[in-house]
Amino acid sequence: MLIDTHCHLNFKAFKKDLDEVLKRAKDAGVEKIIVPGAKIDSSIRAVEIAGKYDCVFAAVGIHPHHASDDFEIDTLRQLARNKKTVAVGEIGLDHHHYKNYPQLTLNEKGKQVTLFLQQLEIAKEFNLPVIIHCREAQNLLLETIRGFQKKNSRIKGVFHCFEGEADYLKEVLSLGFYIGFDGNITYSENKKLVNLIKNVPMDRLLLETDAPYLTPLPFRGTRNEPAFFIETVQFIAGILKMKSEELSAQTSDNAACLFFGK
Ligand SMILES: [Zn+2]
Ligand SMILES: [Zn+2]
Repeated sequence: MLIDTHCHLNFKAFKKDLDEVLKRAKDAGVEKIIVPGAKIDSSIRAVEIAGKYDCVFAAVGIHPHHASDDFEIDTLRQLARNKKTVAVGEIGLDHHHYKNYPQLTLNEKGKQVTLFLQQLEIAKEFNLPVIIHCREAQNLLLETIRGFQKKNSRIKGVFHCFEGEADYLKEVLSLGFYIGFDGNITYSENKKLVNLIKNVPMDRLLLETDAPYLTPLPFRGTRNEPAFFIETVQFIAGILKMKSEELSAQTSDNAACLFFGK
């Protein structure tokens, strides 16, 4: 039993062959897939796909990359109400300087924080976990979450596609969050992730594909899809010196605990 806790079946890359992708996922033992939104339209699409396929669940949210003046928070609130919505995400902060985009201004960084806080409020309102995306804004993100938790009850969730130093990992764990790892851990240049994952308590570990991105070896260079998930699971089981079945059982339990209230 495998649960892919982060997979963008709602993105264009899967527009043409979603049925086949889901069939291959099922054949490969992937029983549940959580599809996070990145904007309003991809959040709507996530809910649509979840409505069509029993094994698919939606997360709804606006990625910091798409923070703008018009956040359409009311639409998001509507989507959060849907019975197959299991999380608010992916949300967070991203200060990375992406190719072909101008450097973020202070004003834009401020908008990311505003949008993030508004979406934490929605998660609180609907008692949903959050899927956090953070790139190159770790301190500000920790500060923002700590501030939110001080005024509110503890918000729960996952730091997806985790990257960072061991100290940062410790901080995130102390806030009560789960930690998500992806197929990029199989890349030879990511030895740091291999060391990092050994510091994650077994009951806080989640696995994800982030498909269509981060295709694990040996399929790197092609579109990622949930059927390749097992490659990442086997690789991580090797690092943690456990059987793949044990690792998938434990991480599926963790996913069920966080997203399905079990
Ligand atoms: Zn992300
Ligand atoms: Zn993602």
